Amino acid sequence: MRIILMGPPGAGKGTQAKVIANHFGIPAISTGDIFRANVAGKTELGVEAQRYMDAGEYVPDEITNAMVRDRLAQPDAEPGFLLDGYPRTLAQVEELDGMLADGHPVNAVVVLTADSEELIARLLQRAQIEGRADDTEEVIRRRQEVYTEQTAPLIEVYAGRGLVVEIDGMGEIDAVTHRIFDALESQAG
Ligand code: ADP
Repeated sequence: MRIILMGPPGAGKGTQAKVIANHFGIPAISTGDIFRANVAGKTELGVEAQRYMDAGEYVPDEITNAMVRDRLAQPDAEPGFLLDGYPRTLAQVEELDGMLADGHPVNAVVVLTADSEELIARLLQRAQIEGRADDTEEVIRRRQEVYTEQTAPLIEVYAGRGLVVEIDGMGEIDAVTHRIFDALESQAG
């Protein structure tokens, strides 16, 4: 099972990623989490990535692509994986296509949607709980712009391949999880 999870910042990708991945017994691979772990560990990658993340900009493709390539080569990703937060640019889609050119293409691209005021409210609330450096209102708005400009167009690309499953991300977490499983089942069957 190879799943991509997409959606604007605050749509609930991280929360749903863990549940879906658990269900299928595959790792949830979050590029945002990997970057944050590197920032916390003050690795070379973290130092490089941090200035982009703090500004709400995407980390350059070469850096992100190399990191994902490494991660997907780990043995736990052999039976499948769920990608949360990758690909986010057209160049990353091409790169991922190359990485997956082994005859096991992506099964589904789950796109989580939510209205933008709700997204901002959720992120501001998370800021108070988790204190993420990029959860200030200014940076949140920039992250949303970048998503709209650079990532939203990817939905068309995957829709053209018949892979997109669009899910309403509003409402209770469990209700959203249910919608995702229902949709994945009808997509598969
Ligand atoms: P969110 O979806 O809430 O904005 P993430 O935790 O997924 O946040 O990512 C945080 C930051 O990490 C992004 O704003 C960006 O700087 C960087 N990042 C994550 N994934 C990618 C990616 N695929 N390409 C480039 N930068 C990325």
